[in-house]
Amino acid sequence: MLYKRSSELFQEAKKYIPGGVNSPVRAFKAVGGDPIFVKEAKGAYLFDEDGNRLIDFIASWGPLILGHAYDPVINAVIDKAKKGTSFGMPTEIETELAKLAISMVPNIDKIRFVNSGTEACMSAIRLARGYTSKDKIIKFAGCYHGHSDSFLIQAGSGAVTFGSPNSPGVTRGTAKDTLLANYNDLAGVQKLVKANKGEIAAIIIEPVAGNMGCIAPTEAFIRGLRDLCTAEGILLLFDEVMTGFRLAKGGAQEALNIKADIVMFGKVIGGGLPVGAFAAKSEIMDSLAPNGPVYQAGTLSGNPLAMSAGLAMLTELNNRPEIFKSLEDKAAYLHNGISKILTKQGVSHQINRFGSMMSVHFTEEPVCDFASAAKGNNDTFKKYFHGMLQKGIYLPPSAFESYFLNDAISYDDLDETIAAVATIF
Ligand SMILES: *Cc1c(COP(=O)(O)O)cnc(C)c1O
Repeated sequence: MLYKRSSELFQEAKKYIPGGVNSPVRAFKAVGGDPIFVKEAKGAYLFDEDGNRLIDFIASWGPLILGHAYDPVINAVIDKAKKGTSFGMPTEIETELAKLAISMVPNIDKIRFVNSGTEACMSAIRLARGYTSKDKIIKFAGCYHGHSDSFLIQAGSGAVTFGSPNSPGVTRGTAKDTLLANYNDLAGVQKLVKANKGEIAAIIIEPVAGNMGCIAPTEAFIRGLRDLCTAEGILLLFDEVMTGFRLAKGGAQEALNIKADIVMFGKVIGGGLPVGAFAAKSEIMDSLAPNGPVYQAGTLSGNPLAMSAGLAMLTELNNRPEIFKSLEDKAAYLHNGISKILTKQGVSHQINRFGSMMSVHFTEEPVCDFASAAKGNNDTFKKYFHGMLQKGIYLPPSAFESYFLNDAISYDDLDETIAAVATIF
């Protein structure tokens, strides 16, 4: 397949937009080559500026769980747009979406809408700190919670307990309040909590990680975190920006049968428009302004366009819960199909999957945390990614990103995808 016009558009974009993109992973840095410019999309397919049709396995990084340009969502947005796009005043549809989300998700009484997953996580951490009157948080290496300062932290050299900024512009002052632990390592977390006794406001985690490939928590790890938080008066924050309304109606809380204290959403909850949200029991949420002292606000938060897309999406998922089973079945089919071929061809690999999130790692060792995910062979990954692209299959352009299946993908599309894998190695 030719991607000539995309390359030309990329050259032009680079003159006016840093790196030619408005979010770094789009730039293909990890795999090389030029990104694909999309013209339009429908259902399972992207149509690019060169006229190619690609089967899409990222679904805008998760939101489009029912496929692109899904009619009920698009129609809801069009109808709303005609009536005005933002008022900076309350609207009934905010309550409708809040009510529906709360009815679908375990253990939450109230929800606040924002404009991105980043904003949701940033605000949730402020709420946790305000509510507990403590400053420190624990996050896990390889988990992504958006790009706010508190989360752009890496393991400090030498001392494992103190984070250091992993981006210029994040101050050491901020970094010292974020402690870093390893995913699936409960003993490490226990040690951190002990060394910082009474100082930790929150432990924030992707309950099923999707930003170092897909990594599921062990039962002992996630249950252990819950018990530790309860025992120590620490809030457990589930970043369900990826997993929310994807792994089940009630997200990872339901899929793992573990309750979190604050839950953050993004992606699916906006149906493809910019929406984030955070939610908890009333006692915690009532600490937020205007009820309480923890400040948080947004000019376009809860705007009718975004709310109408979210409402149409969640309504569909709520009314047709069989969608989750259908997605899981399709993902399992793809998982098995790819695994069989790579095994037959003697390509070392691990496929991690939880429901409709999955990732292919080119390594012999099980991938259970950031260190093991980082051992994947990136040359093999590049060959795989570009080989698939040549066959019209769009996979995440980084080994650290998860596939997100959408339900518009058919078994014929999956067979085409599996057949493409067979041509690469
Ligand atoms: C995508 C993502 C975010 C950030 O959401 P944005 O809408 O991109 O700001 C936060 N947490 C997780 C787990 C994500 O996958």
